Amino acid sequence: MIPLFKVAMSPNAAIDASRVLNSGYVGQGDRVEDFENALKGFLMTPHLVTTNSATSGLHLALHMLGLPMGTRVLTTPLTCTATNWAIKANRLVPDWVDIDPRTLNICLQDVRAKLGKHTRVLMLVHWGGYPIDLDEVAEIKTTYRKRYDQELYVIEDCAHAWGALYQGKPLPTYGNTTVHSFGAIKLLSCVDGGVVTFDNAHTTERAKLLRWYGLNREDRSIDSGEWGFKFHMNDLNASIGMANIPMSRHFLDQHRRNSAVYDRQLVDVPGIRLLERKPDRDSSCWLYTMLVERRPDFIKKLLSCGIESGPVHRRNDDYKCVDHHKKHLPRLDSLYENIVCIPVGWWLNGDDRNHIIETIRSGW
Ligand SMILES: *Cc1c(COP(=O)(O)O)cnc(C)c1O
Repeated sequence: MIPLFKVAMSPNAAIDASRVLNSGYVGQGDRVEDFENALKGFLMTPHLVTTNSATSGLHLALHMLGLPMGTRVLTTPLTCTATNWAIKANRLVPDWVDIDPRTLNICLQDVRAKLGKHTRVLMLVHWGGYPIDLDEVAEIKTTYRKRYDQELYVIEDCAHAWGALYQGKPLPTYGNTTVHSFGAIKLLSCVDGGVVTFDNAHTTERAKLLRWYGLNREDRSIDSGEWGFKFHMNDLNASIGMANIPMSRHFLDQHRRNSAVYDRQLVDVPGIRLLERKPDRDSSCWLYTMLVERRPDFIKKLLSCGIESGPVHRRNDDYKCVDHHKKHLPRLDSLYENIVCIPVGWWLNGDDRNHIIETIRSGW
């Protein structure tokens, strides 16, 4: 079976991890610092803190805004529950926004329509790693500031988007708070881990305290005045992430190459609509998503040919625990049953990729 996901683990990860395990120190130490320094180069920002997952990172980022209970957060239902349950965990309210049918990202036109004085946060997810129009997001923030004389906080869930570029630059460059994931199946894996970036040193220092109980690890006599979480990364996970960096660069290229071949080979297949690709942004191509007619038949056909496929995430507004926030989302409603992802990752060889293309081209 050609799977939709596979864990990317360098052989060096076990060697480096065992060194940490046998060192007598496995908590947050030098390995975390090394990993953070490497991430600063990759994400092109000095303002970042690692966490033990992206879920913790999202929770921390929302917590730090200090918003009153019940504040509305504009967000997409088409994502991992981690995005939206972090909103719930902070006693904030998800205000569902429809999706853009060209990208499956949040619809910025609907964001504008739903934006009000009491909306304080916009949560973005770069679906499959394809960046949202960050120029338009900046414009929305400016309009909001002028109209309401306060900031609209933007948090980008970049869990799909490791390596994605907008106008040639990593996503944190654009000044919003970003959260990347190093979870088991993500492009760069720490087994579990995440990183949060901010646009200034002061907030980053605060996040460093709050990820570990609000305490200063260098000088415990300092009282930060705030309580915090146990969200820090440890040396074991950091050493695994560090060992996986060289390979992840190579794997990212393979995802992009496979994705480009699909773009060419599947564009004219009846019953399929491919997603938008604009030249000003480079997707991480972590997922390859398309819209297909008769999805159950499509999935069954691929399965019978040894290929796993599926929608990956279930729409979050569909879960019982958020039933009372329900909204009419006409575009997502009309597309939801057609969303499907096919294997695109580094684990495909040329034969696998051709087999997938031929299977799809032969119809379902
Ligand atoms: C994987 C994922 C997360 C959660 O990441 P963890 O590091 O596992 O907590 C959050 N959001 C999206 C969109 C994801 O795909």
